[in-house]
Amino acid sequence: MPVPWRTETVRRLAQKAYDSCDRLDFLILADALEEAGCQCAVTLQHLRGKHPHIRGCWVLEWLLEPERRKGRPPTRS
Ligand SMILES: [Zn+2]
Repeated sequence: MPVPWRTETVRRLAQKAYDSCDRLDFLILADALEEAGCQCAVTLQHLRGKHPHIRGCWVLEWLLEPERRKGRPPTRS
């Protein structure tokens, strides 16, 4: 499924948030997603929510999964 707002910037920010687990990075990512045309309230609210994000949070999985599948052997258990 092609997702138009999965831009280079969004993916870069998603990777950053994934690496840092910093709430600020999630807020920046939410802004970038919205700017790129993402109107999914669930996603945006999740990113801006006050709960702590875990590594592998579903939003990050959703944004990064195609990248990670590409070029990496399926060794993840
Ligand atoms: Zn999350």
